[in-house]
Amino acid sequence: MISEVNKFDTLLVANRGEIACRVMRTARRMGLKTVAVYSDADANARHVREADEAIRLGPAAARESYLNIDAVIEAAKRTGSGAIHPGYGFLSENGSFVSALEQAGIIFVGPPASAIAAMGDKSAAKARMANADVPLVPGYHGDNQDDALLFEEADKIGYPVMLKASAGGGGKGMRVVEKSEAFQAALEGCRRESRAAFSDDRMLIEKYLVQPRHVEVQVFCDSHGNGVYLFERDCSVQRRHQKVLEEAPAPGMTPELRQAMGNAAVRAAQEIGYVGAGTVEFLLDADGSFYFMEMNTRLQVEHPVTEMITGQDLVEWQLRVAMNEPLPCTQDELTITGHSFEARIYAEDPDQDFLPATGKLTRFTLDLAGAGLQADQVRLDSGVESGDTVSMHYDPMLAKLIVHGVDRNAALATLNRALAALDVQGVVTNRAFLQRLATHPAFKNLELDTRFIERHEATLF
Ligand code: ADP
Repeated sequence: MISEVNKFDTLLVANRGEIACRVMRTARRMGLKTVAVYSDADANARHVREADEAIRLGPAAARESYLNIDAVIEAAKRTGSGAIHPGYGFLSENGSFVSALEQAGIIFVGPPASAIAAMGDKSAAKARMANADVPLVPGYHGDNQDDALLFEEADKIGYPVMLKASAGGGGKGMRVVEKSEAFQAALEGCRRESRAAFSDDRMLIEKYLVQPRHVEVQVFCDSHGNGVYLFERDCSVQRRHQKVLEEAPAPGMTPELRQAMGNAAVRAAQEIGYVGAGTVEFLLDADGSFYFMEMNTRLQVEHPVTEMITGQDLVEWQLRVAMNEPLPCTQDELTITGHSFEARIYAEDPDQDFLPATGKLTRFTLDLAGAGLQADQVRLDSGVESGDTVSMHYDPMLAKLIVHGVDRNAALATLNRALAALDVQGVVTNRAFLQRLATHPAFKNLELDTRFIERHEATLF
């Protein structure tokens, strides 16, 4: 167990966009000096403008800039940064990066490399979770990848099944197989996709749950052996297995189910010696059974909805844990107040199959007072401001609109008002699509599951 205090006064944020701005906001509030890094495409980006100091990493291509481990470490050394926050995406779940930082004597604001490795592979992670008594989706996650054996296992599980790349992530390398006749072709397709995306074609098979909800638990562990859960988020509204709208708490949870899922999530984290912020994703079936899907070993895009209902600052928790401080709260001290939604604002065109959009944002503002909204009800986590240019090089998410209300209906009404008050000009966004979702009667009526968008295509597009 580590006990020495691990202080640092300068934090480098190895990311861009809204998450870099959001991490730096808390770091500044805690009195830390902030260092941004950037690619040539981002030389004038908001996260660069807001940092105390900024270092160029390289050309626009992520591989040569935000994913360039040597350049990031060099930037930390040049600026005397004692710690690096990776945000999400890019190097946040890269074990080699974490090991390189350990070598260089720089603190990684995140879990140890061993915990990232334990969860990095879906098959290996499932084997570990079975040990920790965390319920799994029935399925096969063995090493033997023989076609005939996989076919037999799929039959045993019973169709429909889901084929998943063991090394997968970001919704890639996944396929639903409805019947045995379609298995072989799906297996070949999935392997091909997985090889291309992850240079790895090992597969696992799961029972395909027909109408599950995606409910994930926020966990936090410190380096002194303490672990807590900060309740759950419902991220069932997805398009092609990617989250669109998230909320906390998950509607319809009983206190018993919340506690059972929370405890399972903390067990999952402790099984792998976890330290820091993590998310344990579960599928929740209509009968209240829940099954481990995977653990994300980083801060999630949707963490603000948890902050809104708990009143905690998760980035502050991360930085304190990285300084070897104990968790700021015990489980008993954490409570849920009200309800929160997050809508992801993307530069993409819903009318053109969500094609990413680029250009100059002539306007990007949210007039709260004009919409009769209060500052404590609405939060805009944005990586851009009016006048900024949106390039084609990175993820098209521009900002996140987060709202809070006394209950779900109040929060939903606020979300709709805030979406309407968002003034974006110059670049096409998904705002109208989000408005159709957030005003949809079935969404209001809690007809939630991961196929919500698919089922309501006719009224959403
Ligand atoms: P990724 O790591 O690529 O995000 P996940 O394993 O987290 O993939 O799954 C992403 C989404 O796919 C889930 O949120 C859920 O909607 C759907 N999904 C995954 N596994 C199953 C399953 N066994 N049955 C039904 N839906 C599933």
